[in-house]
Amino acid sequence: MPTAYPGIGVSRGIAIGKARILQHGQVEVLEYTLPTSQLDSEVQRFRHALAQAREQLLQIRARIPGDTPGNIAAFIETHLLMLDDATLAEEPEAIIRAQHCNAEWALKLQADALLRAFATMDDAYLKTRCDDVIHVVRRVQQLLLQGGEGHEPLLEESAEPRIAVAADLSPGDLVLLHQQNISAIVTERGGPLSHTAILARSLRIPAIVGIPHVHDYINNHEWLVVDGNHGTLLSDPDAATTHFYQCKQASEQAAYDRLQTLTDQACRSSDGIPITLQANIELPEDIAELKRVGAEGVGLYRTEFLFLNREQAPSEEEQFTAYRETVESLNGAPLTIRTLDLGADKAFVPVRHISSNPVLGLRAVRLCLNETSLFKPQLRAILRASVYGPVQLLIPMLTNTGEIDQCLHLLNTLKRELRAQHIPFDEQLPVGGMIEIPAAALCVDQFARRLDFLAIGTNDLIQYTLATDRIDEAVNHLYDPLNLAVLRLIRHIIRSANEAEIPVSLCGEMAATPSLTRLLLALGLTRFSLPPTTLLEVKHVINHSNIKLLQQQIHELLQCGNEALLRQTINELNSDLPELSF
Ligand code: PEP
Ligand code: MG
Repeated sequence: MPTAYPGIGVSRGIAIGKARILQHGQVEVLEYTLPTSQLDSEVQRFRHALAQAREQLLQIRARIPGDTPGNIAAFIETHLLMLDDATLAEEPEAIIRAQHCNAEWALKLQADALLRAFATMDDAYLKTRCDDVIHVVRRVQQLLLQGGEGHEPLLEESAEPRIAVAADLSPGDLVLLHQQNISAIVTERGGPLSHTAILARSLRIPAIVGIPHVHDYINNHEWLVVDGNHGTLLSDPDAATTHFYQCKQASEQAAYDRLQTLTDQACRSSDGIPITLQANIELPEDIAELKRVGAEGVGLYRTEFLFLNREQAPSEEEQFTAYRETVESLNGAPLTIRTLDLGADKAFVPVRHISSNPVLGLRAVRLCLNETSLFKPQLRAILRASVYGPVQLLIPMLTNTGEIDQCLHLLNTLKRELRAQHIPFDEQLPVGGMIEIPAAALCVDQFARRLDFLAIGTNDLIQYTLATDRIDEAVNHLYDPLNLAVLRLIRHIIRSANEAEIPVSLCGEMAATPSLTRLLLALGLTRFSLPPTTLLEVKHVINHSNIKLLQQQIHELLQCGNEALLRQTINELNSDLPELSF
């Protein structure tokens, strides 16, 4: 008799296989007191475990295939950096000596303190860092407890498909499991923004997280079905259930294969309107995936990833090299470089400003204008890279036109400096702004007079319009891309950009959500920027959409005060869409 366990589907796809229970829960750590004479050797034992953990991670990194997207190796890099960070490498030593305690306990105390500090922060990126701390600490604690034995999730050889079931899995664990041909993963802990979830999506491994005590319910070697689309785990499926999911799996694979044939096709609505699909990237290495899906350049390059997990900001030269190589690798397609969107609370060490409400505090362009020693080298690097291909500069989180004027003034000063130094740059470098604050959206006509293009950042625009923290689960129900106020703002921004005759794109998650694609087309959007992984699906929807017909329906929809009716009308926009889910 099949039993269903609901969880959160964080990586799509169906898998059918035998459970392989991996014990990756919290490590049981006991405290014991040491005499002074043993403290030196305890510190040595701790250092040895750190060195072994480092060695394990280096081995995992070396085993990542060369064609894997760049963000994957970056996760391992994050863990390596954490192992070297004084907060994890040195503080526990001080605790061992001060409290005469064992290394496991000292590490636990330090990790608990760090996690308590993270818990008070208001930032999605930092919350994923919490998972990283847990994974790194667990690796070291297991080495301490097991006297140096690794905790690699090794699976026995098997011809049958296997599904890993664990309390928690780190990105490093997933790399190893992937190499051992794991079919899917199911965990108690984790969320859609965790690095393990992001990695599972990149590797196309179906994944469900958030099933409490999952390994108490599942037996080793029991048959399971993982439905990553709906976040449902089924144990002990009967023949009819297995057959149903086998058919679903086959049709999803066929749909996926069909989508790949769209790579070289133009993106054009069924009534002939060309639509531009660009990619969001985070690291230069992401360009390979962009090319694979045929994106028309980069609509959003989140440069903050060059700055995270390090003590020093990258120099102008280092940034110039990264930007130059990226634009050159695009072979003539445009590269939109967004200037730093760091919050004061993000993991870039030299900038320390404690804000009582970081989401509303000194972040993005506010921080850059405040810390010109951070901003100027980036602007110079972007200007210098602009002679190697079509570069555009994009400023995030603009609140008012004064900030635009300040940025343009600084840019002009740097241009004069470069001219005087005979360093070439594109004199016509287009400068755009992100519209992600309601104040900017409402006054967008004024912004458009000063800028060459606009990009709508709906992730933040929704959060600020609805006064709803995008990562606070307690108010998740209010974070709604379909809220009428959000839709009206998006339409207003697009109309204003059209009136000003400047391009406008949308680069938040809404652009990457196929069920919202027709709605955005109806609102007048003709440029999307989205992660390469969902680009072909969105292209499929566009190629099967008649924009003129959609636009006839939008006026009434934007007058709809009833949320349920609004949702139903939006669903109806998609009703004749050919099946494509995979
Ligand atoms: C956005 O806010 O929609 C956006 C694209 O920026 P980020 O997600 O990097 O804040
Ligand atoms: Mg944003």
